[in-house]
This record gives sequence, C-alpha cells and structure tokens, in this order.
Amino acid sequence: AKEHGHQPFQFYTPALESRASRMLNQEQLLRQSIAHGGFELHYQPQVRCDTGALSGFEALVRWRHPQRGLVSPEEFVALAEARGLITAIDRWVLRRACREACGWYAQGMPRVPVAVNMSAQEFRHSDLASDVAAVLAETGLPAQLLHIELTESTLMHSDAQVQRTLHALQQQGVEMAIDDFGTGYSSLAYLKRHPIHQLKIDRSFITDLTENDDDTAIVTAIVQMAKSLRLRTVAEGVESAAQLAALRALGCDMAQGYHIAPPMPADQVLQWQQDYCHK
Ligand code: C2E
Ligand code: CA
Ligand code: CA
Ligand code: CA
Repeated sequence: AKEHGHQPFQFYTPALESRASRMLNQEQLLRQSIAHGGFELHYQPQVRCDTGALSGFEALVRWRHPQRGLVSPEEFVALAEARGLITAIDRWVLRRACREACGWYAQGMPRVPVAVNMSAQEFRHSDLASDVAAVLAETGLPAQLLHIELTESTLMHSDAQVQRTLHALQQQGVEMAIDDFGTGYSSLAYLKRHPIHQLKIDRSFITDLTENDDDTAIVTAIVQMAKSLRLRTVAEGVESAAQLAALRALGCDMAQGYHIAPPMPADQVLQWQQDYCHK
C-alpha cells in the first residue's frame, strides 16, 4: 500500500464512517439500556437562601454506559429526544425518583419535594398527567412532594394539549418549575397563561453574579418579578459562599449548586442530609 500515492476509498473517511456508526451504535445501546434499566439517578439538594434549611432535591439522570461508565444527560438526552426515546427514559426517572423519595421519608428524612426534568415532547405527545397520577398512586408519593421542571420553550410553543396537561398536573397538586429561566425567550407573556410555581434562574446569570453588575441587575429583576407574580425563585449553579450571600441579599428563595453539594447517588442522600443538618 505504501507505493500508492493515495487510497482509492479515501472519501469514506474513517472519521465520518465511525461517527455515523457510533451514532447508530449509541442508539442501539440506549435502547438496550431502556429495556434493562441501565440508568441511575443522582440527586442534588436545594436549600433556602435565608436559613440554609433543606428545601428539596432535583433528580438528574445518568446513563450506565457499558464502555464509558456513567454518562451525563448532556451527552444522550438530545439523541434520545431525536429518536423518540426520551419519554421512556423520563417515565423511568419519574417512577424511580418518587420511589426513592418515599424511601428517604420512611427513614426519617424531612418530607421535602423531589423535582424531575421533563422534555417538551412529554407535554405534547404523551399522556403525562395521567401517567403522573398513576405513578403517584403506585408509589404513594403525595403530589405536593413532586415538582416537574420544564423549559421555557415548552411553554412558548404550547398548544391546547400542553395547557390541558399543565392544568391537570396542577389540579393534582404537582408544582411546575421553569428550568434555565432567562435563557430562552424575551416574551414573558407565557407566565400569565400557565400554572407555574417556580423560576429556576439559569446558572449563566449566577456564575459572575458577584463581579458583574449586569448579572446583578438581571437576577434582581427576575427575583422582583417573581415576587410580584408570587413565584418562588431557585438559583442554579451556586458555587461559592459569596454567591449565596448575594442571592440572600437580593431576596432569592432557594439555591442549588456545588457550593451546597454536587449531585450524589441515591444511597448517599440520607447521610448527606444528616451531616448537613448537624453542621
Ligand atoms: P439542568 O436541569 O439545568 O441541571 C443542572 C445541571 O447543572 C446538572 O448537570 C448539574 O449536575 C449541573 N450543576 C449543578 N450544580 C452545578 C454547579 O454549581 N456548577 C456547575 N458548573 N454545574 C452544576 P447534569 O446532571 O449533567 O444535567 C444536564 C442537563 O440534562 C440538565 O440540566 C437537564 O436539562 C437534563 N436532564 C437531567 N436529567 C434529566 C432527565 O431525567 N430527563 C430529561 N429530559 N432531562 C434531564
Ligand atoms: Ca433541571
Ligand atoms: Ca436548570
Ligand atoms: Ca441550566
């Protein structure tokens, strides 16, 4: 092969070929993992900015990849959404989170809510409200202890079906939080049309909060608006005591981030909670 100046099949570049087959391979692996429960949930605590009291947990899914170990949702949620697999994953997450939360309460943990993330597809192409009702009945989790996080784009492109689903969930007593608030859209009219309880202020506004006046102005405005609309605020990605102090001064209700704790496996939650409240 050395004496040939070029390879006749060079246009099948190895990079392209392996990328296409890697995607296919990933999809097959993902399907297998869905069939066999190859996921796990990590939980990240949320605390009140004023008192520091524990106020909830967010469930974050991880894929137990056969070769790569635990894989972040950033690396597979988009593929799962594109292939219509996300509903199956999110249903598993929902059931698992409800069950694990009930287990903690039974072992003496304060009954704080657990939040799950739901893709926009769930609100459009599936019977989310009745599936949630069934899972709550099956697991015994009170509806008030379940929060659902959804993105602004879910609400911006909402139709009658999305509205019905949200109202049915609200009627059951489930609370809704808007994830990554402030990154999606400039129109805030959707806040009027939908039953929303919480705004989760995106991490991008928190990172430089203590050094950047623009971020301070944005977070101040979000907190003030939320107060007038009687919505609670949760700051995401809080990584320092200085950020937490700034959020407390601005009147933000709750904080979540590495400064409080990183997401942790379910079996570490009780121990973390005990250490945290005796600190
Ligand atoms: P998200 O809902 O905004 O979740 C927060 C992400 O920020 C998590 O990444 C979390 O580990 C990370 N994080 C938490 N605190 C900090 C911090 O202080 N600093 C920094 N730099 N990062 C922090 P993760 O777990 O990789 O999740 C990524 C995204 O995947 C989530 O973003 C969410 O949109 C999506 N996701 C997670 N679980 C599910 C799920 O069960 N279903 C669906 N549909 N999407 C999910
Ligand atoms: Ca979230
Ligand atoms: Ca978020
Ligand atoms: Ca975010």
